[in-house]
Amino acid sequence: MKMHDVIVVGSGIGGTLFAALNHKKHDLLLLEKDANLGGCCSTFKRFNNHYNAGATTFVGYEEGHIVKRLFDEVGYKPNLKLSGVGVRIVQKEKEVDRVQAFEAFLKNVDEQYPNPNNRDFWETIKKVDEKFWQLKKLYYAKHSFSAYSKSIACVTELFKTYKSELFTSADGFIKKSLGDISTEYQAFIDAQLLITLQTKSKDLSLLTMALGLAYTFHKTYYVEGGMGSMIETLLEDVPYKRKEGVVKILKYNDHYEVHSNKEVYKSKNIVLNSTIYQSAQLFEDKAIKKYYSKFKFSDQSAFVVYMTIKSKVDFLHHYQIILDQKIPNSISNAFFVSFSDKEDEKLSKDGYSVTISTHTKANIWRGLSKQAYAQKKLETQEKIQEAFLNYFDTIQEDEISRVFSATSETFQSYIGRHNCGGEALKIKNLLSIPPCTTPFKGLYNVGDTVFAGQGWPGVALGVDVLNKEFNHG
Ligand SMILES: Cc1cc2nc3c(=O)[nH]c(=O)nc-3n(C[C@H](O)[C@H](O)[C@H](O)COP(=O)(O)OP(=O)(O)OC[C@H]3O[C@@H](n4cnc5c(N)ncnc54)[C@H](O)[C@@H]3O)c2cc1C
Repeated sequence: MKMHDVIVVGSGIGGTLFAALNHKKHDLLLLEKDANLGGCCSTFKRFNNHYNAGATTFVGYEEGHIVKRLFDEVGYKPNLKLSGVGVRIVQKEKEVDRVQAFEAFLKNVDEQYPNPNNRDFWETIKKVDEKFWQLKKLYYAKHSFSAYSKSIACVTELFKTYKSELFTSADGFIKKSLGDISTEYQAFIDAQLLITLQTKSKDLSLLTMALGLAYTFHKTYYVEGGMGSMIETLLEDVPYKRKEGVVKILKYNDHYEVHSNKEVYKSKNIVLNSTIYQSAQLFEDKAIKKYYSKFKFSDQSAFVVYMTIKSKVDFLHHYQIILDQKIPNSISNAFFVSFSDKEDEKLSKDGYSVTISTHTKANIWRGLSKQAYAQKKLETQEKIQEAFLNYFDTIQEDEISRVFSATSETFQSYIGRHNCGGEALKIKNLLSIPPCTTPFKGLYNVGDTVFAGQGWPGVALGVDVLNKEFNHG
């Protein structure tokens, strides 16, 4: 049996970027359990239409940003369209366009959420975020002297750059700069944080809040042909097999034996793109099982509604609709709507392809009878559809030619994860976030459940650290 240098388990953003960066340097093989590549960032076909499974916004393709740097290193130029408005945030009669141009955005915020210190608040958010992406030593890894020393250098750089700002809580900063804000303004801030960071301001530091709120001060892109098309192209020259799930990994002294549902492979190194919470089940080795079991399961997940809409009306690419009340079987009163670009020949072939997501808990959907599960799912889908049609009043119900939805159970059955989104970077867990390295030689993790969290920017930052640990560690 051939000995590979590295087997990558999973083709999410993390597994894909790592494989694209390393397949020419090492004898690498990537195994993906699903028929589609990309995990939460895939595009799938159903009823002859294509839909983005989860991720729809692409941020970070700009000079000096980690996503562009890694794409350049691979030699990949994505097919993108700039979204003039990153996202329109709607709360009853209030609408704020998250545009990149600061003054235009500020004017809009001032009109909708007037506050004498809006400028000070949003300028600080922007500056804190800009300083972060200029840091030279961003690093977080453990389990070796060199990993610890690079992580310490990173913390030192953070201290030098942010000084006391590093210890400022998000809520403390909101109170200090904006004073006591209305519940509507707080909901406007929290809805955005829930999307970008999986949590609200009460759990965050100023730094993490700034990274979340400044997301749309960066260029937001629409990906032509669906998010999955980027993953497919990134993996074009990489040896990979789809529909081949890894079911068991045995550890030997100098290598690992990887059992898929089809074959057995040998490899000196393993990079797991499965979540940190669901990696233990792949192993029999007690020490490895014990290592993974110490990471407490993050129960946060997604509920997603997919629609095909035959409408001639023009829409922005993205909207976030904030409601008065919590959506049933969710943990949020907001949902995020993404329309395919009208000119996208693949996604808009038979009308708009629409992906709508909100936050839920995996435990809400577990252990239900088939009937109870279907009922709950329909209840949530219908509530979202009702609120959707309520806002988009130019769309008639009979123009929705397809509608179906996904819960944490759907994500589990297709891509082997109940939770969606990593552990939010909160003040109290900053130093206990799982790293890409493990105490076991040749065993690594990548993806949004390890540093630096979710989305293209977070996962790419994690890939950059893993790449250094793997090749020079
Ligand atoms: C609803 C939703 C909306 C989002 N919107 C955005 C957005 O607009 N912009 C953005 O940047 N981010 C967004 N995100 C976050 C982003 O999609 C994720 O953080 C990111 O895609 C996760 O990448 P990952 O590397 O962790 O891999 P994952 O997406 O978790 O993929 C892991 C892959 O590994 C495979 N796998 C797992 N176990 C095995 C096994 N045993 N054998 C073989 N293969 C296996 C899975 O099938 C899967 O393909 C969104 C997420 C969700 C859920």
